[in-house]
Amino acid sequence: MDIDLFEHLDQLPPEVQKIIEDYGETESLEYSELEFFLKRIEAVGYTFEYGLDAIPFNLTKLINPNPMQKFTTQAQSLREKAVTELRKINETYREKSDHFEGSVIRITDNKIQYHLEGERYLSEIDIQNKKLIDNNGYQYDLDILSDHQLFTIIDTIEANIEKYQEWQESQSEIFYKIQNAGFNIVTCGNCGEVILHEIHEEGEIHCGGCSRDMDKSDCPDLYS
Ligand SMILES: [Zn+2]
Repeated sequence: MDIDLFEHLDQLPPEVQKIIEDYGETESLEYSELEFFLKRIEAVGYTFEYGLDAIPFNLTKLINPNPMQKFTTQAQSLREKAVTELRKINETYREKSDHFEGSVIRITDNKIQYHLEGERYLSEIDIQNKKLIDNNGYQYDLDILSDHQLFTIIDTIEANIEKYQEWQESQSEIFYKIQNAGFNIVTCGNCGEVILHEIHEEGEIHCGGCSRDMDKSDCPDLYS
């Protein structure tokens, strides 16, 4: 004969006692509350019964608690974290989609251009709508990626961002050396053409791209 642990709360681990305390007067619970109460209790390795009167009884330790339950919960929260991480990337590095009106994370590294269907491969992620887009513009659910693929995408993109930032810094360093030597590289404020000029030269800058004389203030430095 099993002991009803509801009668021996002091023998329960603190985490179980805490859940029971949360529900306080267990004799006045609604069915929906009771179901949730049971789920929480089972998650920590115990179970109880209840009848038509909705009064829980016969609290016992589960003999075979589901070891997958905790694992599944962790895996789910890990996936949610992955989506959050992709949203963060998207805030800073969003680009226009090739296939629809909206911004996406572009997948340019062929290591993560995962094969999707036929000869098509992953080329954009629309994280707002949790969709994958292949190179022909077909859409798929984000869920078709395995956890491993999803985390590989994040790792790869973050590593590439870091490499790109390092490269930009090295470009800036060279740029300052050029400026210190008396030359500047700017872009035409009208057509975007790259223009080289000597810093000591007064007056306007001529752009051969659009055949205009531009004010210096209208031609921003290539690196700032
Ligand atoms: Zn121009």
